[in-house]
Amino acid sequence: MEFGGRSSYKGKGKGNETDVRCFCALPAKKCKSWTDKNPGRRFYGCERWKSPLDCGFFQWIDEEEPFGWQKQALIEARDEISEQKRTIMELKKTISHLQSDLGKNAEIKEDIINGFLNM
Ligand SMILES: [Zn+2]
Repeated sequence: MEFGGRSSYKGKGKGNETDVRCFCALPAKKCKSWTDKNPGRRFYGCERWKSPLDCGFFQWIDEEEPFGWQKQALIEARDEISEQKRTIMELKKTISHLQSDLGKNAEIKEDIINGFLNM
């Protein structure tokens, strides 16, 4: 908004909503490929991508294929992230186990207190 005076500056679709539409005539969704071949490469896909209603629309946003060390770095980063996600999942599981154990302990404590009170 601070740059309102410069109306001549118009990025080529940058920042604006895309008018790319899929075969369902829905605005195409920006997705990111994380395959070994195209790590981090962006593309337009169907809004219902990964659902049974996906119309199969596909169009690359990034014209160039990833290559070289950047590609390798992206693949490694992707694998690191998925490894970390797995660790977080396991930690969450441990926490919820601990929480339920704590809950049980609290119940036992309450039973003991109630036991005393009823004496
Ligand atoms: Zn579609």
